[in-house]
Order: sequence, then structure tokens, then C-alpha cells
Amino acid sequence: MSSVPSTSAVPQHVLPSYLQADHLGPWGNYLKQVDRVTPYLGHLSRWVETLKRPKRILIVDVPIEMDNGTIAHFEGYRVQHNLSRGPGKGGVRFHQDVTLSEVMALSAWMSVKNAAVNVPYGGAKGGIRVDPKKLSRAELERMTRRYTSEIGLIIGPTKDIPAPDVNTNGQIMAWMMDTYSMNTGSTATGVVTGKPVDLGGSLGRNEATGRGVFTVGVEAAQHLGLKIEGARVAVQGFGNVGGTAGRLFADAGARVVAVQDHTGTLYQEAGMDVPALQAHVQQTGGVAGFAGAEVLAHEAFWGVPCDILIPAALESQITADNADQIQARLIIEGANGPTTPEADDILHDKGVLILPDVIANAGGVTVSYFEWVQDFSSFFWSEEEINARLVRIMKEAFAGIWQVAQEHQVSLRTATFIVACTRILHAREMRGLYP
Ligand code: GLU
Repeated sequence: MSSVPSTSAVPQHVLPSYLQADHLGPWGNYLKQVDRVTPYLGHLSRWVETLKRPKRILIVDVPIEMDNGTIAHFEGYRVQHNLSRGPGKGGVRFHQDVTLSEVMALSAWMSVKNAAVNVPYGGAKGGIRVDPKKLSRAELERMTRRYTSEIGLIIGPTKDIPAPDVNTNGQIMAWMMDTYSMNTGSTATGVVTGKPVDLGGSLGRNEATGRGVFTVGVEAAQHLGLKIEGARVAVQGFGNVGGTAGRLFADAGARVVAVQDHTGTLYQEAGMDVPALQAHVQQTGGVAGFAGAEVLAHEAFWGVPCDILIPAALESQITADNADQIQARLIIEGANGPTTPEADDILHDKGVLILPDVIANAGGVTVSYFEWVQDFSSFFWSEEEINARLVRIMKEAFAGIWQVAQEHQVSLRTATFIVACTRILHAREMRGLYP
């Protein structure tokens, strides 16, 4: 017997350690979604393992001097899940619960989302585990700049382009753009999107995610025979995405009857004054204390009588524990990953239509793409033109996905994954393995 092991004994798919322990949480949910799409990928299923491991993970230490003279260390990440279709693209999140597994899942959903609306990007995501509300403005700036320097190795206008996500905004993008530009010696507006309009940002970007949620939501409602006029809408998370989507639905004649965020849960059968609620959130940091609405217990939110439910906060909110209570006919996922695969099945059996994150909230990255194109050409478009292009892309993507769902008799989530993963893996196959 030879002492040299035969090559066939070498395991083909040994998982890196960071992929082994964690099959729960957002990354585990994403893997289940990939497993569901695999039977529909034909010969491309040969490449499916590509989708199950991020291409590149960077973990950085972010030390800063606090205002009181102490040194604090934060853990930061930038994950490039897949770069087959173009540079990495996806936001940066500042939140006390950020983990590597979460950022991996968010980066993977960016790959799927970007391919679903056919913008020429791969998928990436970043984050820092920090509660930004506990930092002063100066500390927040120092942390953002140090993080940007640390991930500066792998980002760039043609490499990987960050953008806002939970708790990050135009000011943070301005600091990131400036830091990268100072480090590289030239003003690189195209290194991030979601910048203030005066710094190469795009008109319409702030509202784009909410506008996309509304646009595809109306399309889906039509298929259900659900009239927007008078429809009861419940929104979880009343930040940039939930607030804008709520306002657009209210403008179209719907009633925003329930809202929930980290500060409280409110109910008002007649429908809330959404612009007033947005102003209240702007001033006070949350929906709590908004006059005129009834205060509900946190868990009561999921069971409120409504026609449309818009989760627009964090992952894994709709689970096997609360899916049964949901009364809506249509769920539009403004957040990334708000529904677990188990809840997906329960809602499917109940006949609830779910418009998945990877198409429903793609409006933000679509206008990020417009911003990036405008930065490269230094030629800026009108808001009217931007919104018209956004609506066209979202409607076309939705129509294609709807058709695939009918053809294969699958959920809209699986249909979106079929369209997107086919595009990603086709690009992967054509590029080939190097060397
Ligand atoms: N953070 C947003 C998302 O989850 C936008 C990403 C971008 O514009 O790159 O889609």
C-alpha cells in the first residue's frame, strides 16, 4: 500500500473556519435560499459553491482616541462576496449588533440584488460593531476615517464602492470620500455613493430605496387585485426606507395604520399624518411620543389588521414565531433579510405574497449606480430623469421576475434568485478560473 494518499481522498469542499460554525443567523438563511435555487440553475449549478463562500473578507481593527482621552477599539469589516459582474457594491452599517456572519449575508444579498436589477456590480458590504448614538460627532468622524483608511486596501471607484446603510448617511459618505481621496492624492468622488449632492451625490438618491419599495409594491398589489387607495399599511422601521415608502403609499391614498421602531409601536386606524411623523422622527430620533396614535405592545405589531406590511428595519424580524399572526396580503421587504426561510414557508402556505428584499429594496443601489455613472462623466442629471429611469428599471426587473415565478411555480424570492444567480454564474463561467 502506498503511503501517499490518493487525490480522490482530498475533500473537495473543505469550508474555511469562518463558514463552519455559523449556520444560524443571516448567513445560514442566505445559504438556505441558495439551496432552494440550485435545482433551477441547470448546468450552472456546477458553479454554485462560488455563491456559498465570499470571495474576500477583510476584518479591521479601528482604534480611535475618544474625546475623554481614552483609546477605543472597534471591529470593522468589508466583505466582497462576488466580483464576477463588476466591482463590489454595497453599504456600510454602523450598529452595535454587527457581526461577520451578518456582513457576509448582507454582501451576498447585494450580489443577488445587483444582478436582479442588472446593474454592473458584484456584491459587497461593510460594517462596524458600534452604537454610533454613543459617539460624539468628532468621534464618529475619526472612526469613519480610520475605518476608511483600513479598508482603503480593497475599495476604490473600480474595485468596491461603499454606500449608506443602517445608521450611515451622506455626511459619513463625505468623510469616506475625503479620506480615500486624501490617501490616494486625487479627488475620487466615485469611491462611494449616497454622497451629499454638492459633493458629486445624485438627486433622488436619499429617497431611492423607498421609491423602489413603493414602485414594485404597486406592481405586486395590481397582480393581487389590491387597491392602494384605502389600503392599510404597517411599517417596521421608520428611517430613510420605511419613512419614504410610508409617505409615498400615503400620498397614493393608502393609510399608514401602524409603525414600529426601536423606540415604540404605534397604531392609528384612520392612518397617520406621515410627513408629521417623519418630522417627529427627525427631531426626536424615533416614533415614540408621536401625538394622536395609540401605543401598542412591541409584539402586537405583527398582528395588526393591515393589507400591506413593510419590514424596513433589520434582519430576521419575521420568524416562525410571529409569521402566523400576520394579516397582510402583501409583504414588501424594505429591509435586507427580514424574513427567515421558515417564516417564508408559513406565509407562502397562508397565501401571503412576499416581495423579497433582493428586488424590493434595489432602488437604492440602482440610483447609486446612476450616481457612480454621473461621477465618472462629471455630468449630472435632473431628478425627473433619475426617477423615471429608476421606475423603468424596477418595473422591468419586477415583470421579468414575475414571469419566472409563474413559469416555475416558485416564490418571488426563488424567482429573483433564479434570474440573479444565473447572471452571476454565467459571468463566472465566461470569465473562467484563473490561473
Ligand atoms: N445599503 C443599500 C442596500 O442595502 C444600498 C447599497 C448601495 O447603494 O450600494 O441596498
